[in-house]
Amino acid sequence: MELAKITRFLPDEEATLKLGESWAASIMPPLVVYLQGDLGAGKTTFTRGLLRGAGYQGAVKSPTYTIVESYPLPRFTLLHHFDLYRFTTPEEWEDAGLDDLFADNCLCLIEWPEQGGSFVPPADLTVTLQHHESGRNCTIEAHTDKGRKSLETWLN
Ligand code: ADP
Ligand code: MG
Repeated sequence: MELAKITRFLPDEEATLKLGESWAASIMPPLVVYLQGDLGAGKTTFTRGLLRGAGYQGAVKSPTYTIVESYPLPRFTLLHHFDLYRFTTPEEWEDAGLDDLFADNCLCLIEWPEQGGSFVPPADLTVTLQHHESGRNCTIEAHTDKGRKSLETWLN
């Protein structure tokens, strides 16, 4: 059976960073990833780890106020990190022209994708983080063949 879902317990922040970091080498864009979980679940931390693994050395800010932060990376054109938490209506997706960022060869990570309703492109993968004891449970689920391949490459 093809691998479509994994679950990991992440005891501390460093474990979340390492999980993101370990994924960086196996990403083949274009890829759309939804980051699910409550405020403070670790969505931005996971992204920070991924950027670290992709060789990005600068600071990683949460895009809560800017909606999107974009990072040029050696291995693919751009990583776009979205946070739609502050949207009051899904139409803000269109007003901000965010579709234009879904170009070839980009990795798009989206926090609070449900806030953008049907404007948001469908996910290849979903990363879900949930508070559990003093750490987090992380589930990564593939929804497309591309997402499944990325998950398999990562874990093999
Ligand atoms: P989100 O983007 O989901 O709102 P952040 O990544 O900004 O969350 O913040 C998550 C907070 O939880 C940070 O303070 C971080 O240090 C902490 N954290 C991240 N991963 C873990 C973990 N596995 N266990 C405990 N704390 C964590
Ligand atoms: Mg965040």
